[in-house]
Amino acid sequence: MALVVQKFGGTSVADADRMREVADHVKRTRSRGDDVVLVVSAMGKETDALLRLADEVNEQPPGRELDMLITAGERKSIALMCMALDAAGVPADSFTGSQAGFETDDNHGSAKILSVDPHRVLDSVKKGRVAVVAGAQGMSTDNNVTFLGRGGSDTTAVALAHGLGADACELYTDVSGVFTTDPRVCPTAKRMESISFDELLEMTAVGCPKPVMRSVEVARAFGVPLHVRSAFTWEPGTWVLEEAPDMERAVIKGIVPDTSQAKVTLSGVRDEPGLAAKVFRTLADAAINVDMIVQNVSESDRTDISFTVPLEDVEVATSTCESLAASLGFSGVMADVQLGRVSVVGAGMASNPGVAATMFETLAENDVNIEMIATSPIRISCVIAEEDVDRATAALHTAYGLD
Ligand code: ADP
Ligand code: ASP
Ligand code: MG
Repeated sequence: MALVVQKFGGTSVADADRMREVADHVKRTRSRGDDVVLVVSAMGKETDALLRLADEVNEQPPGRELDMLITAGERKSIALMCMALDAAGVPADSFTGSQAGFETDDNHGSAKILSVDPHRVLDSVKKGRVAVVAGAQGMSTDNNVTFLGRGGSDTTAVALAHGLGADACELYTDVSGVFTTDPRVCPTAKRMESISFDELLEMTAVGCPKPVMRSVEVARAFGVPLHVRSAFTWEPGTWVLEEAPDMERAVIKGIVPDTSQAKVTLSGVRDEPGLAAKVFRTLADAAINVDMIVQNVSESDRTDISFTVPLEDVEVATSTCESLAASLGFSGVMADVQLGRVSVVGAGMASNPGVAATMFETLAENDVNIEMIATSPIRISCVIAEEDVDRATAALHTAYGLD
């Protein structure tokens, strides 16, 4: 007998029929003798709808109130899910994030989990009931409702699985697992049987949306076995483990397209110690996540520095840099938002020469210009034009034999 945390995303609980199907699945799981704790997202596109509504009332809503509004989406789901379970003859109790013991910091909109004390969830399980927990929410140390951020239900599920000492955390979604690339971009994408935490973390860090990166970080830190799988076909999906067990695995595990980044270039920066430090400290203080950084060799005493930031931060990043231009004496700040990135990821590449050469050759053969390159022991990323991303992804998927 095992304890399983099962998390269902928005599309998986989008309407009454979906809720009934999930309830049937929970019933099947319990008939095998396992205990189930459910985590659910808001129904369908409800979170987007609530964000739009807020925007209509106030373009810059107070964070506390926005979190109060968004978390209502998941609250609706837990109540309806418990009703569906009740109708299927399965006793169930709903819990908001705070009732489930999620304590967070007060960073509204992207609160971090400080601790989880799921004793009420555990009591419910011990009574033979199904606990249904609202995803992506908690309560701050000063007792305000907080939202963990987009996709935060994955993180809720993993943290809860750890807090309960569950045997597995199953993330149910609208595809049958983690794919070799985004199945929407490349129809030849294949489901992986398994992937290591390190590889998946690297994939999510460069733009793979599923599962959310923070959930993979928590799963890796606490060794929570993850199973990403379909809420539509119910077939076995992708296991995320300490080390993927297939010794013969391909060198390259996945290709990750990403169009969510922009590039900022500072030109004519004086080539002297401390200038980069000043720029990136100021950006960090403005809470901007800088990713790839390139500094050119200078011919005179001036140099260019380019870096990438998330698209939504590009305006703040540009104005922050402009405010430094006079004091640091650089001549210009330029932003490029028509930018994309394609990355190849796989633990095998560290010990296999030629992976980078294959990537650059493939991009060259397809007339794709590389603007920036970054590497880690298990990843190579190239910044390219946004319009080339889908084509480059498909070509690389073929070149590394993943089709
Ligand atoms: P949920 O709402 O269930 O949490 P999301 O909609 O956030 O799920 O993420 C699932 C989507 O992620 C899939 O529909 C798929 O199109 C997309 N996706 C992009 N890249 C990948 C990948 N490499 N493997 C699996 N899914 C991916
Ligand atoms: N409903 C929230 C979102 O769409 C949280 C989640 O689904 O994980 O981002
Ligand atoms: Mg989601």
